[in-house]
Amino acid sequence: MKVITIDKKGWASGIEKTKSAFQVFGPVKEKEWHSFKALGPGEQPDMAYSNTRISPKFLVQPQSEPMFTYSLDEAVEDHHILKEVRKDTAPKAVVGIRPCDAAAFLIVKRNFDAPQYQDPYWLNAYNAMTFIGFACNTPCSTCFCTSAGYGPFNEAGLDVLLVDVGDSFVAKSLTDKGDTWLKAGGWTSAADASGKIEALMQAAEAKITSNVSTDKLKTRPTTQIYEAPFWDDVAFSCINCGTCTYSCPTCWCFDIQDEARGTSGIRMRNWDSCMFPMFTIHGTGHNPRGAKVQRVRQRFMHKLKYYVEKYDNGIQCVGCGRCIRLCPVNIDIRKVCNQMNDYDPAACVCPA
Ligand code: SF4
Ligand code: SF4
Repeated sequence: MKVITIDKKGWASGIEKTKSAFQVFGPVKEKEWHSFKALGPGEQPDMAYSNTRISPKFLVQPQSEPMFTYSLDEAVEDHHILKEVRKDTAPKAVVGIRPCDAAAFLIVKRNFDAPQYQDPYWLNAYNAMTFIGFACNTPCSTCFCTSAGYGPFNEAGLDVLLVDVGDSFVAKSLTDKGDTWLKAGGWTSAADASGKIEALMQAAEAKITSNVSTDKLKTRPTTQIYEAPFWDDVAFSCINCGTCTYSCPTCWCFDIQDEARGTSGIRMRNWDSCMFPMFTIHGTGHNPRGAKVQRVRQRFMHKLKYYVEKYDNGIQCVGCGRCIRLCPVNIDIRKVCNQMNDYDPAACVCPA
């Protein structure tokens, strides 16, 4: 593993150099929020940010993604043929991604790169990415990554981890892709900063005071949690807006729609949400999750129980805190997770 020092005076010129080898994305402030954008010539990532409002999952799984097009117009070449939309798989570098969001791609990968099937759209886009992570020296008050199994300096899913040490960044290259990116930026000066990084990491972890308990989620009987009396309270104020799922880096659900206009059409896949009433509606009109409480319960049961049982590898949440910050009615996954983890029907005194 290479550890390189990047003097901040040479940061902007190095980023410009990487643009000849990569399409570069980075956090950009728009109004009061940051989001990841493609950086054109002269544009720089704004590294003075906490995290983006929308997670960078859209770089791999766009909110709306064209899959196929067709035309029935006899004047169009190849009419009557369903044509796959070509994808841009040229190398891309995502500079400044937070460790939680990079780790989230590994959770989502379990769904799109399963032993039984592989999703070429997702995988081709993911494989084109080089993730340049940015350690969180100052986590947000809603971050709980440490108890979700990750941390502000976590390296999972990253190709490079950048640590801000004042006048410079220390760059830990974690993969061959990371080596390539550093070389493209012309950064080669070796750093000796392991003690400094360790101290910053411990200081950052100490700032994370919110947490979840997950130790009993796997062994609690599914039906007991499913039938627990607290779901009505959890769901009471939810307006099923879907903000939690759309902003979440570990939510992967989508729907495929055909849109026809005149003699041509397009097949799209679009983000969907288990919070929406139409999500599970059957062709018969029957909806197994027709009530709001059923949809709210599904979101948490999927992330914190079904996923845990299926993969036996943590929870389907990296503790980024977005859903807590953005929920308009203050539903808090930390509270729900602890309720699920600690629920004991024998000790429950249910209201009459
Ligand atoms: S963001 Fe809040 S109100 Fe909106 S669907 Fe999620 S839990 Fe419900
Ligand atoms: S904290 Fe909320 S938004 Fe973030 S990964 Fe967990 S469920 Fe998703």
